[in-house]
Amino acid sequence: MRGGHVPQRTCRGCGRKEPQAALVRYVAVEGRLVEDKMKRLPGKGIYCCNQDKCRERMAKRSRKVLKQGERRCVVVTEEGSV
Ligand SMILES: [Zn+2]
Repeated sequence: MRGGHVPQRTCRGCGRKEPQAALVRYVAVEGRLVEDKMKRLPGKGIYCCNQDKCRERMAKRSRKVLKQGERRCVVVTEEGSV
């Protein structure tokens, strides 16, 4: 509707605001954070810079979006999952 408006998302790791396209979307699936490269996974997505530092911090912070009682948080990238 608003032409030229770029949606911004906040990185869960460092808290920086970036254009949505510059961040990687992750979705909590069965207690794990799965990289949503195709942007097609349903559910609550969180965004993070494509940096290991940010991913680590995101994993610690994102337990709230995971199921209650889930203690560990595993970040799954497409490269790492078959
Ligand atoms: Zn970041």
